Amino acid sequence: MYKKQTVSSFYALFGGTFDPIHYGHLRPVEVLAQQLGLQQVILLPNHVPPHRPQPEASPWQRLKMIELAVANNPLFRIDTRELQSSNPSYIINTLKIIRQQQGLKFPLAFIIGQDSLLWLHKWHKWQSLLDICHLLVCARPSYNNKLINTELQQWLNTYQTDNIKKLNQQPKGYIYLANTPLLDISATDIRRRYHQNQCCDYLLPHSVQQYIKLQNLYC
Ligand code: ATP
Repeated sequence: MYKKQTVSSFYALFGGTFDPIHYGHLRPVEVLAQQLGLQQVILLPNHVPPHRPQPEASPWQRLKMIELAVANNPLFRIDTRELQSSNPSYIINTLKIIRQQQGLKFPLAFIIGQDSLLWLHKWHKWQSLLDICHLLVCARPSYNNKLINTELQQWLNTYQTDNIKKLNQQPKGYIYLANTPLLDISATDIRRRYHQNQCCDYLLPHSVQQYIKLQNLYC
């Protein structure tokens, strides 16, 4: 679980359905952490995602897969607060609570992929995100770099920075488009591959593959 930090440091949260977690989640975020000097990335699996169809795996199966995927990787921790809630979890509310616990002084960031940025204007109170934290965007192949929503594009133009120092020194308020490795992996494709009995090696950790087999998931 998330604990209040006692040293001055830069933390990020990474929310998702993780149905299942895969290398497209893990590798870009590991590179991002190195680029920005993030001490820790807190994975925040959601229980009832408000913007998409409901997951195939149960919350506890998704949590187990995340635990297996990040075992022995000190960069990652897991926060189960959204998993434990049976109501739709709006990230803005979760971030508010985490910011209150963390205090106002230290930089806090929320990580998303490029595809999520394209639809950010559909998120509950999306413009308030930067009042709480920075937004870090990982590159993702096959998604347009151009935003179709003009309000969102203006918001990006206003708050985007390439200045890593600013992200480390300011507690919130900036958007960073990261130059992370492009991995053409999605959970949708992985589930489809399992449904069709296709190989998923190299797409997700071996321990997660073994768990999926053991639980007869995505059959
Ligand atoms: P699905 O295919 O079921 O929609 P997904 O693979 O997109 O799932 P999510 O759990 O929905 O995974 O994504 C959590 C976060 O990870 C989102 O912000 C998403 O943009 C990001 N993400 C997922 N896959 C990648 C990838 N290959 N590269 C960069 N970001 C990614």
